[in-house]
Amino acid sequence: MSEIITIANQKGGVGKTTTAVNLAASLALENKKVLLIDADPQANATTSLGYSRNDYEFNIYHVMIGSKKLSEIILKTSVENLYLAPSNIGLVGVEKEFYSSRAKQRELVLKEKLDSIKDEFDFVIIDSPPALGPMTINALSAANSVIIPIQCEFFALEGLAQLLNTIRLIRKTINPKLTIKGFLPTMYSKQNNLSKQVFADLSHHFKNKLFKDEKNSTFIVIPRNVKLAESPSFGKPVILYDNKSSGSMAYQSLAKVILEK
Ligand code: ATP
Ligand code: MG
Repeated sequence: MSEIITIANQKGGVGKTTTAVNLAASLALENKKVLLIDADPQANATTSLGYSRNDYEFNIYHVMIGSKKLSEIILKTSVENLYLAPSNIGLVGVEKEFYSSRAKQRELVLKEKLDSIKDEFDFVIIDSPPALGPMTINALSAANSVIIPIQCEFFALEGLAQLLNTIRLIRKTINPKLTIKGFLPTMYSKQNNLSKQVFADLSHHFKNKLFKDEKNSTFIVIPRNVKLAESPSFGKPVILYDNKSSGSMAYQSLAKVILEK
């Protein structure tokens, strides 16, 4: 059976795409068959895996709005076992069209499309856009669980209440099985007191929802690491760019913790 994990936070630039791409690649490295769905019109996950918009004809919007099946848009990637359902940067604004074109059950389109192929994969990871709009709602409605990246900077927890409310509402109405898999502190720097403060706040409120590496009795924190920021420009996940970097090791640890659970 496959596990479907959505990466969500309506705040922009908190590390959703970095987490989606590198968690997906790290799970693939552990010999799991993984589908990464780029559900963001910015198409950052697609670009991060080396695809530019002329490389493929169909994308997630042909699935959401048109009659395409997910299996018809899936691409191979440079990582063995890792597959991509691409988005397209030309499609910003299509979300609106999606809302007006489907009156009923519009929250469940992605789930329905996933139902027919999800069992071909061990994991499906969905990258969502920085908004609580239709694509994020579809991504949360299709998922078993959600990972919430929290950037270790000022304002980190702002807007979190709204996200948690949305998750609660989705659980009450369309997807009772949705759980919060965990909060993932991102862009953490040891030298920065603000980082420590955000981590302290997070562990105060959500200690049992942080990812814990039981072997080392440490919590998983994604460090601020330049290799993570550079690797997308080479069209590669960090495991293929600098496998031994602190960022790469952190995402590999996260993948291991998720596999152990
Ligand atoms: P959006 O809301 O626009 O989709 P996002 O939440 O997906 O953004 P990312 O694109 O993953 O965020 O990250 C924002 C920027 O920060 C990117 O330039 C990325 O390369 C960089 N970044 C993310 N995580 C790290 C990290 N741990 N260390 C250094 N840079 C990082
Ligand atoms: Mg993103």
